[in-house]
Amino acid sequence: MKKKIPYRKISQILFFIIIGGIAVNNALEEMGNGLPFIPALSLHAICPFGGVETLYNLATIGNYVKNIAASSVIILSLSIVLSIIFGPVICGWVCPLGSLQEWTGAIGKKIFKKKYNHFVDPKVDKYLRYLRYGVLIWVLYVTARSGTLVFKTVDPYFALFNFFTGEVAPQALIILGLTVGGSLFIERPWCKYACPYGAVLGVSNKFRIFKIRRVKETCINCKKCDKECPMNITISNQEIITDHQCISCMKCTSDQACPVKKTVEFKTK
Ligand code: SF4
Ligand code: SF4
Repeated sequence: MKKKIPYRKISQILFFIIIGGIAVNNALEEMGNGLPFIPALSLHAICPFGGVETLYNLATIGNYVKNIAASSVIILSLSIVLSIIFGPVICGWVCPLGSLQEWTGAIGKKIFKKKYNHFVDPKVDKYLRYLRYGVLIWVLYVTARSGTLVFKTVDPYFALFNFFTGEVAPQALIILGLTVGGSLFIERPWCKYACPYGAVLGVSNKFRIFKIRRVKETCINCKKCDKECPMNITISNQEIITDHQCISCMKCTSDQACPVKKTVEFKTK
């Protein structure tokens, strides 16, 4: 059988290296040790969520929140266009924090086998999934009031590439530790329960152009798609996946988990 090219894995590794390299080099440059052949841009300048944080200030006083630049708003706009077309691919294919959780989760899967990613009672989990909207509202409120990046003080993404700079608040390091440690038990705990940017992009699942579609006529009800979904979405009883937590990872499709050809596909119709 022809070996499939792991496009998503390649994309995740590439973006981890590119984003991490740029952010770490920026921190090194501020310490006077940057490498000249790597662009030194602050993580805030290349973070699309910075674009969300600055929207209120931009709309009301025409200014960016401190540390945010036009580049964040441009990257945010691109990520929204991508999400409208393909769903939250930024979460599933690009975000280094999502990738790190997934890689840690691979160890958790080896340890806990079938129990992995099933530690939280589904009745409780269902409600916990809405926490990230609460985080989003909190971030927008405190940022609009203060005009500064308050989220930076708890942001595990910022902590991940800046932990050695002395700029990272202890609580952000603790949250990063909890996120990575939690990934040993739950797949992508930060994405599921807390990420405010995931909350923004997740809405696109309701109207995205390319959707995950299941053909019920050819489905043999093996539930392999459900088992493979990192976000615990039940695919096997739906025809179109519109769950707000889908990250467009494609793991459920007939190219990957589903054993029946053309039964779970990523397409417009
Ligand atoms: S496995 Fe399918 S339903 Fe689950 S997150 Fe990935 S693309 Fe979405
Ligand atoms: S993996 Fe494919 S055949 Fe099995 S339940 Fe899911 S859609 Fe049906």
